[in-house]
Amino acid sequence: IKKIGVLTSGGDAPGMNAAIRAVVRTALSYGWEVVGVIDGYSGLHAGNFIQLTRRSVSDLLNRGGTFLGTARFPQFKDPKVREEAVEVMKQNGIDALVVIGGDGSYMGAKFISELGFPCIGLPGTIDNDIAGTDATIGFDTALNTAVEAIDKLRDTCSSHKRISVVEVMGHHCGDLAVCAAVSCGVEAVLVPEVKWDKDEVYASIKRSVDAGKRHAILVVCELQTDVHQMAKDLEALTGLETRATVLGHIQRGGTPSAVDRVLASRMGAYACELLKSGESGRCVALKRGELVHYDIIECINSMKHKFMKTTYDLACSLG
Ligand code: ATP
Repeated sequence: IKKIGVLTSGGDAPGMNAAIRAVVRTALSYGWEVVGVIDGYSGLHAGNFIQLTRRSVSDLLNRGGTFLGTARFPQFKDPKVREEAVEVMKQNGIDALVVIGGDGSYMGAKFISELGFPCIGLPGTIDNDIAGTDATIGFDTALNTAVEAIDKLRDTCSSHKRISVVEVMGHHCGDLAVCAAVSCGVEAVLVPEVKWDKDEVYASIKRSVDAGKRHAILVVCELQTDVHQMAKDLEALTGLETRATVLGHIQRGGTPSAVDRVLASRMGAYACELLKSGESGRCVALKRGELVHYDIIECINSMKHKFMKTTYDLACSLG
């Protein structure tokens, strides 16, 4: 290997910059050149590259988002577009690629490696929905952001005798909701992995309010229900003022937590180590504190992200 590319793709996640920095500085220490790809797979296809030096990644470790930019580029599902992108890399003397992104980005990386081009995937998403890894880059920061927001809502809910319905992100993965629920000691947590019944949830909140509880907080994973309607229903049922808050993209931004900085730095360096030892088509994962790597195809096709069932049960029993 003489020259590698690095890109970020899909939803941005705090810690992506730290991962890029680690890739760049590790690769440079091996004597490789590094180019950054602007705006994910769209920049890859367009040949939108910038040369990266040690200095290019100074002052980035603590910055949220991704300085390379990220984009949704559905055209990459077209095999012809992918072949063209690989050709562009070859023409630019790039020998290998590191992709930082979520499961959609992994699909792109899988196809690139199937074309015989060395490619390593790093899990960068706040959703924590990637199979095989205990944590993704960005999850811890997003969780801390959600917890801070819910703590603030709790203060005002308890002062005003209010109910709060808080929607957190996570797409089809309830990890963010479950961990926020345990961290904030909320009354109910609704996630896609566990079937829930609206009437039962409402009845349980009504019982708490009737028993004299001054406030209640429900954490709801996105795509589960209309939280604004849920707030209206609960207000009508309990007589307590009820507000819905959608945390939304606030969870995507912000300075990465120390946990995410360490994870991203370790994973970025590890991606280069894998390329150096001749690996390709692998994705990096954290397993019981250690970094491991899996076949990216196996990760997408046959591995399933494990739901945090015991943590969910804890949220229910303590909340
Ligand atoms: P997040 O879940 O955090 O939003 P993600 O990586 O899953 O991140 P996606 O929008 O699903 O986000 O995918 C990012 C990009 O990866 C897409 O815009 C597209 O360029 C590429 N991609 C997604 N699915 C495929 C696929 N089936 N084949 C090839 N490329 C894909």
